[in-house]
Amino acid sequence: MPAPLDTLTARLDRTRDATRVAGLAALLITPSPDLRYLLGVGGESHERLTCLVLPADGDPVLVVPALERPGLDGTPVLELGLEIAEWTDGVDPYALTSAVLRRSGSPVTRTAVGDTMPAAHVLGLRDALPACQQELASTVLGQLRMRKDSAEIAALTAAGQAIDRVHARMGEWLRVGRTEAQVGTDVAAAIVAEGHTAAAFVIVGSGPNGASPHHDVSARVLQAGDVVVVDIGGPTPEGYFSDSTRTYSLGEPAQADVAAVYAVLQAAQDAAVAAVAPGVTAEQVDAAARVPITDAGFGERFIHRTGHGIGLEVHEQPYIVAGNALILEAGMTFSIEPGIYLPGRWGARIEDIVVVNASGVTRLNHRPRDLAVLPV
Ligand code: ZN
Ligand code: ZN
Ligand code: ZN
Repeated sequence: MPAPLDTLTARLDRTRDATRVAGLAALLITPSPDLRYLLGVGGESHERLTCLVLPADGDPVLVVPALERPGLDGTPVLELGLEIAEWTDGVDPYALTSAVLRRSGSPVTRTAVGDTMPAAHVLGLRDALPACQQELASTVLGQLRMRKDSAEIAALTAAGQAIDRVHARMGEWLRVGRTEAQVGTDVAAAIVAEGHTAAAFVIVGSGPNGASPHHDVSARVLQAGDVVVVDIGGPTPEGYFSDSTRTYSLGEPAQADVAAVYAVLQAAQDAAVAAVAPGVTAEQVDAAARVPITDAGFGERFIHRTGHGIGLEVHEQPYIVAGNALILEAGMTFSIEPGIYLPGRWGARIEDIVVVNASGVTRLNHRPRDLAVLPV
C-alpha cells in the first residue's frame, strides 16, 4: 500500500529543494526504505543497479534493468510520470547513471548516495564519476523522513495497536516447559495474524538470556520463576513498523531483587516519556531515563541508548542518545526503551513507541507496563 500520489510528489519536491540547499548535485537512491518513501516502491537492492537519480535541478530519472521494468507496472512510478532509463545486461549502468547526472550541464562535484546502498554500487558510481565526492543521503532524507505526516502517524498508530494485540495474547504461548524458540514461532505467526505483513524480529530472552538486549530465541526451556523479555515487531501493509517490549514473569519471580529493580525501570520509562515535548532535545530525553536508574545504582547496567526513531525502518532518525542535541518537533516518532541487564541472572526492558504532538507526547503502545506475572 504506497502513499498517495500527491504525497509522493510533495516528498520528491521537498527532497529536491533540500538537495539544492545542501549544495548537492543529486541524490542517488537504490531500492530501500528511502526509495519507498519517495516513490512508493521498496524492494531490495541486488547486483543489477536500480537507482533513482534525483537532481537538485531537473527532473528525477529512474535507472532500471530492462528485466525489472515490467515489475513497475501498476506502481506509482508510472503514475508519477517519472522518466525511466532502461539498461540491458552487458551495458554499464554506472556510465548510464553518470550520463543522466551530467545532462543538466552543471558540474557534478558532490552527490549523496542512500545510506544502505550496496558497496558494489557505491564503488561502481565512484568509478563512473571519479571527480565526484560521495556523501550520505541521510543528511537530506533523514531530516524529511523523521517528520511524519498524519497518514504516517495513523499507520504507526495501527502498527502499535497490532503489536499490543500480540502482547495481550502472550499468556497463550509463554508457558513453563516450552523453549524460547517454540514461543518465538507462535509469536511470529501471531504478529502476522494481528495485522503485520511479516514478523521482523522476535526476541524471547528468558532468565539469564534477558540480560542480552538483542538476544534472539534459543533452545532454553522456560522455568517457573523466570523473568522473560519479549521484544517484537514488524511492518504493516503501509510499510510502517511496530516495536514494543514487555517483560513477563512465569509465576512469581525466582530472584529476590526483581520487584525492586523493575520498579526503578518503570520509573525510568515513565520519566523519559514524560520528558518528551516539542523543544526538548533528544539527549535530554535520554538523560531523563538515566536519572532513576543511575540513582538506584544500576547506571552501568543500562547499556544502550534510550530509543530510536521508527517509521519505514525499525531504526531510523532521531536517535534518543547522549550527544544528540536535535530539538524534538511535533510529528517525530521514536521508541522509549530503557532496560536494566544483570549478566548471568536476568534482565528487563519496557518499550513504547511515542509521537511528539503539539504540546507533549502520545504513546502508541498501551499494554500495562507492570511486570506481567503469568500463571504457571
Ligand atoms: Zn533494539
Ligand atoms: Zn526498539
Ligand atoms: Zn524493540
